[in-house]
Amino acid sequence: MKFPAKLLDKGTTIFTVMSALAAEHGAINLGQGFPDFGADERLLRLLGEAALAGHNQYPPMTGLPALRQAIAAKTNALYGSHYDADTDITVTAGGTQSLYTALQACVGAGDEVIILEPSYDSYEPSIRAAGASAIGVPMTAEYRIDWDRVRASLTPRTRALVINTPHNPSGRIATHEDMLTLQALAEQHDLFVVSDEVYEHMVYDGARHHSVAAYPQLAARSFLCGSFGKTFHVTGWKIGYVAAPQKLTAAFRAFHQFTVFTVFSPAQHALAAYLADPAPWQGLSAFYQAKRDTFRTALAATPLKLLPCDGTYFQTVDYSAVSSLPEADFARWLTTEVGVAAIPLSVFYQQPLDRRHVRFCFAKKDETLATAIGRLQKALG
Ligand code: PMP
Ligand code: GLN
Repeated sequence: MKFPAKLLDKGTTIFTVMSALAAEHGAINLGQGFPDFGADERLLRLLGEAALAGHNQYPPMTGLPALRQAIAAKTNALYGSHYDADTDITVTAGGTQSLYTALQACVGAGDEVIILEPSYDSYEPSIRAAGASAIGVPMTAEYRIDWDRVRASLTPRTRALVINTPHNPSGRIATHEDMLTLQALAEQHDLFVVSDEVYEHMVYDGARHHSVAAYPQLAARSFLCGSFGKTFHVTGWKIGYVAAPQKLTAAFRAFHQFTVFTVFSPAQHALAAYLADPAPWQGLSAFYQAKRDTFRTALAATPLKLLPCDGTYFQTVDYSAVSSLPEADFARWLTTEVGVAAIPLSVFYQQPLDRRHVRFCFAKKDETLATAIGRLQKALG
């Protein structure tokens, strides 16, 4: 038997690898990004009630109308956009599928897609699956978007750009100026924009999230990819969405209908009802900012150098004062010897840089963070 070997070269995703290693060694898992605390009981009850009420058959292909309406209303209220629930919103199996399907919809063989590195690990394989090539453009040393390098990487074949703000793994957020630059560049070069905004409700120190939805000319050429997993502490539900103008949405749905078709009915009903109350997402930044502050204060007492964290639930550190091991080896050592799992930043590059950075996830109970910090302080001094 011969396989075409598509994507087999990628091996197993780092999140699966590090979670398995953490479990094997009894390490505290600050690697893969997910909360170790429960979701709001009200949301969980809504899920059960939806199943018991009989909402267990195929919902519409594009998503439950009430959920699409709630997503459109929330997005439009937050960002001043004009997404139409029927023509512009599609419910997906999480952010990963939004991103994958958006890329299948807008790029093809021979196209180039700019990704900003470090970049979330699903972008490159999704682009390749579409027959296109991912062009990795490194961010600056402080993990800001290096627009000069982006401009220098554009070719007549560039067809799309993937942006992620707030940014995993760095925790940086795009500024208003970044978005204006992106808008101008996308218009000038007629690019599609795939915008990964799954951490939109985790921004700190009074900063604002700048969505593509808030920039009309940008929104006109963008797929806005969102996920409820992060916002409502239910990463295992795998429910997300894409918001995009009608023409883009039509191309998106052309793929969606033959790959996923529709997603888990009870969760769509539960989320549609739960979204009526803005309090859960309005309070999320304050909730995670407190965790970030506790975590950073404690880490500051170790030789690990903290990089800025403006958003997301990730903290990147420079460990060069502690070890000269390459990032993947250091993350492994931390997991097996110190008992705290982390993610090496090298996995987010096509050509890893010579840096000493790993990422910790602080979406954990305070006691989990305290135990992890105790272990780090003991091992690293
Ligand atoms: N984009 C980024 C930047 C992420 O960190 C993640 C997952 N944590 C996703 C997309 C995927 O989201 P989902 O789990 O909803 O598929
Ligand atoms: N997005 C999560 C992270 O960055 C992991 C998601 C996954 O395991 N695929 O850690």
